[in-house]
Amino acid sequence: TPLIGVLAVQGDVREHVEALEARGASTLRLRRPEEVDRIDGLVVPGGESTVMDKLCRLFGLVAPLRDRIADGLPVYGSCAGMIMLADGVLDGHRDQQTLGGIDMTVRRNAFGRQVDSFETDLSMPVLGEDADPVTAVFIRAPWVEQVGDRVEVLARVPHRAVAGDAAKEAAADRIVAVRQGNLLATSFHPEVTGDRRVHELFVQMVRSAA
Ligand code: GLN
Repeated sequence: TPLIGVLAVQGDVREHVEALEARGASTLRLRRPEEVDRIDGLVVPGGESTVMDKLCRLFGLVAPLRDRIADGLPVYGSCAGMIMLADGVLDGHRDQQTLGGIDMTVRRNAFGRQVDSFETDLSMPVLGEDADPVTAVFIRAPWVEQVGDRVEVLARVPHRAVAGDAAKEAAADRIVAVRQGNLLATSFHPEVTGDRRVHELFVQMVRSAA
């Protein structure tokens, strides 16, 4: 059984622990640098990326995590976790840093104040050619503004989700799920819907990397 850490300095840790265990993984709430060597994979949850960044630096987690990411550790980041995996951040705090690893630029709180949170069905063909759509829940979410060649785009905001709503129209077609090598990221929160397919995909990535 793979041991998957859930970064537990801040954010919605418990929902990810439950989803991963439901898919047959063992989990560890990761807080200390000594724990980084033990894990076969890592989830960086939603929460607040500026706070997560500060706490990761304070706890000495940044260097060991960056080392393991460079060595191919599978990591799944959701929402704030997606920001943590981005090589570049727009609308970040002045001194905000990330772990990085995915050649992309994300925009924090991109969906705007008017749309603190919204929900839409979107298709995610990586889950299977005939897979049912995923219910994507966005909570003060980032979107991906730019990706490099090695980044696979896994999902975009469908036009019909935002059509006719001026506050949301800029979100049409925006990239909201990506993969680069062993790194997976979504702007949305699959852990809150009870749909375990994204976690299943990640557990499979961890198993095949092991
Ligand atoms: N707005 C948060 C951030 O910038 C992300 C929100 C979330 O993870 N639900 O980190």
